[in-house]
Amino acid sequence: MKKAFQFRIYPNKNQEVKLNRTLSTCRHLYNDSLGERKRQSELNELERTFGVSPWGKPEWINYYDQANNMSGSKTDFQKEVFSQVLQNVLKRVDRSFKNFYNGFGYPRFQGRNRYNSFTYPQKGFELDEKLNLSKIGNIRIIQHREIEGKIKTCTIKKDIDQWYVTFSCEIENPIPAEIKTKTGIDVGLIDLITLSNGEQIKPPKFLRESEDKLTHEQKRLSRKKKGSGKRNRQRIIVAKVHRKIRNQRKDFAHKTSRNLVDTYDSIKFEDLQIKNMVQNHCLAKSISDAGWYQLMNFTEYKAEYAGKFVEFVNPAGTSQECICGYPVLKDLSVRIHRCPSCGLVMPRDQVSANIIENRPSISTVGTTGINAHQGLLNRGSMQWEAPTLQGE
Ligand SMILES: [Zn+2]
Repeated sequence: MKKAFQFRIYPNKNQEVKLNRTLSTCRHLYNDSLGERKRQSELNELERTFGVSPWGKPEWINYYDQANNMSGSKTDFQKEVFSQVLQNVLKRVDRSFKNFYNGFGYPRFQGRNRYNSFTYPQKGFELDEKLNLSKIGNIRIIQHREIEGKIKTCTIKKDIDQWYVTFSCEIENPIPAEIKTKTGIDVGLIDLITLSNGEQIKPPKFLRESEDKLTHEQKRLSRKKKGSGKRNRQRIIVAKVHRKIRNQRKDFAHKTSRNLVDTYDSIKFEDLQIKNMVQNHCLAKSISDAGWYQLMNFTEYKAEYAGKFVEFVNPAGTSQECICGYPVLKDLSVRIHRCPSCGLVMPRDQVSANIIENRPSISTVGTTGINAHQGLLNRGSMQWEAPTLQGE
């Protein structure tokens, strides 16, 4: 199975120029190739609609056509970039079309602030004291943990003014654990999760503080004049607060998931995707959901590496029945559950967590459609992360 290791790298001035140029060349290639495929598919659509084929049978451009084309006619900029890195860009275009055919959004052109990574898919990089990148140089790297397995790919990513490398490694499959400890987890409307033993986990206070700071800086941004230098500087301030929050959330999710996987052999969550289909959505909710998806995602893959189990259950009515099965209807204001049938008195979230623990799971690794979990999908497209710069 695959496992990713990320480290920060510290390019010097000259290397940073080359990294930025590589990113820019890759982005232009991405947009040009995307444009070419879009045009071609629109032409073919026209032909199909009107039933005429003035250019002969419709031809679809694929990855191989574009790769062949490129190797024959590289621009001067492209010659400065390791050729497999360029091929990987075309692969990304190809994947975005395949994702589209599988029900995701139509492929989008990538702006300067959005396209923030490039990949050495096989070779062209070497790691010893420093990170050696073909066509770029020996970059200082701080390796804070041991890499496991065999390195397969190397992705360089820019985050505003910082650079990172991610190695995707092939590691051995673990031996599945014997299930001795289990838990169910109730994800609250407020920023809180409850385990079936009654334990509660809350995000740290400094996260809330950073979120307040973000609101403040965003307000300042909205007051700056469009296109002004001040606005641009404020935009970067906002992006940096975003990054801080992202890192704090990530850190919290890593610690929490590590604890869960170390403590339990089997962990069950509600399927949030299904839950959201039946609930109306508000902004605060979707922000907290994003955090929960991340936590579930991290828990899922850490469990996978440890040979443990994470499952998802149908969320319907988990707060409206008792552990004994008797229906106990209660609205959100009722925090304590009292069962008239078996006499159980317990905090409501803990009852839900117990029901989740005991429900049969609906999604297993490898299924598709509604059961395919966010986490599973995300892992397939590791290079694609949220844009680093917001605003404008
Ligand atoms: Zn009961």
